[in-house]
Amino acid sequence: MTAAGERTRVEVRDCAKTYAGGVRALQPTSLVVEPGEVLALIGPSGCGKTTLLRLIAGLADPDAGGTIRFNTEDVTRKPIETRGVGMVFQHYALFPQMSVEANIGYGLRIRGVAEAERRRRVGELVDLVRLQGLEARRPAELSGGQKQRVALARAVALHPRVLLLDEPLTALDAKLKVALRDELAELLRRLSITAVHVTHDQQEAMAIADRLAVMRAGVIVQTGDAESLYRDPKHAFVAEFLGRVNRLARSDADLRDGVLRIGGEVLACPGPLGSERALLVRPEDIELAAGTDAGARVVRRIFLGERLQLQVATPDQGVLTVDAARDAPWQAGDPVRLRIAPQHLLPASEP
Ligand code: ATP
Repeated sequence: MTAAGERTRVEVRDCAKTYAGGVRALQPTSLVVEPGEVLALIGPSGCGKTTLLRLIAGLADPDAGGTIRFNTEDVTRKPIETRGVGMVFQHYALFPQMSVEANIGYGLRIRGVAEAERRRRVGELVDLVRLQGLEARRPAELSGGQKQRVALARAVALHPRVLLLDEPLTALDAKLKVALRDELAELLRRLSITAVHVTHDQQEAMAIADRLAVMRAGVIVQTGDAESLYRDPKHAFVAEFLGRVNRLARSDADLRDGVLRIGGEVLACPGPLGSERALLVRPEDIELAAGTDAGARVVRRIFLGERLQLQVATPDQGVLTVDAARDAPWQAGDPVRLRIAPQHLLPASEP
């Protein structure tokens, strides 16, 4: 482990992973996590997130040719115990017979930290994760959120160089998840430890991480901060994974004329998208205005509290999902016109 304050850069270079039986869970992958940065690995089930995390942890070896460095140190063949990583898992992995205090102080005890120092440090960690008053409880007497805070305190007790979080909030119910998500984001900023966070929940990744690496089928497809990935996805997969999209088709005539037909109207297509066969648009980027009977029509209105979600049937693009403000006037049956600012059209092709 390291002195508090020293920060670690993680560099994964050309790491692939083939499991026994020949499953190539990870294609050759390179990735840098900057000192103190929180990076989320995000993607659908089976895309290789956990495999990449396990390589960084030292729980699995990469195929020949791959290297992993923590700062200048090559840790590729080092076992987990000597890498200085802290881990937090979905199912907490707490010792059920031990109190909160004993769970948090476990690593310190194993390392022979003197009792007075251990008590002081555990006290600090209890304060850090706001578990004051619960020190003597056993894990079975805690809520899911409290258990996860114990797991987090235990993981950072030894000042790990790198903190690895594997779906840490997945086992919690939706409300608690959001509360703990914001708490975890704040805590990670305060700790300023380099962290890699695996999740399949895009909102969790966006809320917690400085940068996201979006994975598909063993490959990192795109990395970037949440806003640039959401606004400027380079792949249709990234656009679809990080939010909701409508897919808009273009005919040969549309391509020739540099336009897009939607709801009976003809929109000019921005130059860079001129040759795209299909385009994407997010529901919140379609604006509605009163229309005529010949065009598009609202077929369903769903009140979601903070907004309306509308299904709009069009003569040329099928049924589209459109978000509108909560107090917008639209009802099922209303004829509407659709407008899309050109900068909100996204390419649907894969580069
Ligand atoms: P999830 O979100 O479901 O946890 P993931 O993105 O973390 O998925 P991995 O657990 O990394 O995905 O798995 C990637 C691929 O490797 C999957 O096809 C999986 O079945 C396979 N795999 C994972 N572990 C092993 C193993 N020990 N032996 C063989 N194949 C494995």
